[in-house]
Amino acid sequence: MRTEIVLFDKKEDCCGCGSCMNVCPKSAISMQEDEFGYKYPAIDTNLCVGCGLCQKACAFQNGKVEHEPLLTFAASARKGEILRKSSSGGLFAVLAGKTLSENGAVFGAAYDEQLQVRHICIESAGQLPALQGSKYVQSDTGNTFSQVKKMLREGRKVLYSGTPCQIAGLYGYLGGDQENLTTIDLICHGVPNGRMFGDYLKSLGNVERFTFRDKSIGWGISGTSLVDGKTVKIWESASPYVYYFSKGMIHRDSCYQCRYACKNRPADITLGDFWGIEKQHPEFLKVFRHECGISAVIVNSEKGKRFLRDCQGELVLKKSEFGKVQAGNTQLRQPSALSPKRAEILALYRDGGWEAVEKRFNENIGLHRYSSQIKSYIPASVKSVLKKVKH
Ligand SMILES: Cc1cc2nc3c(=O)[nH]c(=O)nc-3n(C[C@H](O)[C@H](O)[C@H](O)COP(=O)(O)OP(=O)(O)OC[C@H]3O[C@@H](n4cnc5c(N)ncnc54)[C@H](O)[C@@H]3O)c2cc1C
Repeated sequence: MRTEIVLFDKKEDCCGCGSCMNVCPKSAISMQEDEFGYKYPAIDTNLCVGCGLCQKACAFQNGKVEHEPLLTFAASARKGEILRKSSSGGLFAVLAGKTLSENGAVFGAAYDEQLQVRHICIESAGQLPALQGSKYVQSDTGNTFSQVKKMLREGRKVLYSGTPCQIAGLYGYLGGDQENLTTIDLICHGVPNGRMFGDYLKSLGNVERFTFRDKSIGWGISGTSLVDGKTVKIWESASPYVYYFSKGMIHRDSCYQCRYACKNRPADITLGDFWGIEKQHPEFLKVFRHECGISAVIVNSEKGKRFLRDCQGELVLKKSEFGKVQAGNTQLRQPSALSPKRAEILALYRDGGWEAVEKRFNENIGLHRYSSQIKSYIPASVKSVLKKVKH
């Protein structure tokens, strides 16, 4: 008799990485939206043969991360052009550029024509800007894990970047590390879903371009959007989507139980923002331009060490310590806290659509709506002094 496969009992046990879907030899698994728009694997029992490969590939439930941080740096790209297009210190673009220059392939998250976020593969430097910049929504990995396997079999070098659960999912799918594969995981706050993001965009008008983080506003979580031909600022405190994201109120269930929100990271290299650098390394503020973004780089493997060493000519690198990055980045200590308001917001979304969520936001936000905008008028040098005083 065929074994009935159960992929997860509770929603928080599935991170939606798509490893099970990619590994299924019968294409019996597809990713389906739940009532709120978060995607979960669904098994077509007519196609399933009960082989159990999908359960074995699930790193979120089975995987154990052995890595410990080996080295930690504050860093930024040397080239202004890279820094301008990147959300943080531009490390990803430098590492990706190195891979591309060696005829390798790079996988990362890009907007598609409908401004939905998907993982894609790029093979030339001209395509790199599509992957640059943080998109604060769960990226659909599609069949990229299978693509990676094929490229590795052909002897190509591959760099794959994603959230830690996506990287762990990739290793789960591949059955372990591979010589020509290098990975980057991002320090991750959590992910809302694509349907919600799409509905938010519709509420803005005809959106041609959306950037979560725009350095012309400073190094922070405010961006710009091109709506009906006009550039519109997306202030963190005035945007219901960005505000509820940054307060951790609309993440996927598994994000609140994230097993990678700690020092044991699945990728060769971890990248994030070096929040709190003013306090941890005031001496570095003479070396980096604060307003251009400063990355935290955590090297987790010997392969990661070699890779970073090969890129050092393109980077400003200053040695730091894991604890100093962790001090300003909760996501390296524990997952985002489950807000009691999340259930209310999700129920409003399910029953009344994005309009109902926006209505709630407008009724509650008050004068706080202007706080990101006001902060943006304070010069970066004054802000870093204020931050030091605050700490
Ligand atoms: C959902 C999310 C939450 C984050 N939360 C934090 C946090 O709490 N603290 C922190 O320090 N840093 C966080 N980051 C990381 C930070 O925003 C920067 O992405 C990171 O510092 C790399 O910056 P960069 O300048 O090197 O590259 P950038 O050019 O800014 O980023 C490009 C890289 O990000 C990847 N990427 C973009 N969007 C996504 C996505 N939706 N899913 C998977 N990969 C994506 C691209 O594939 C590419 O590899 C988060 C990123 C994401 C996507």
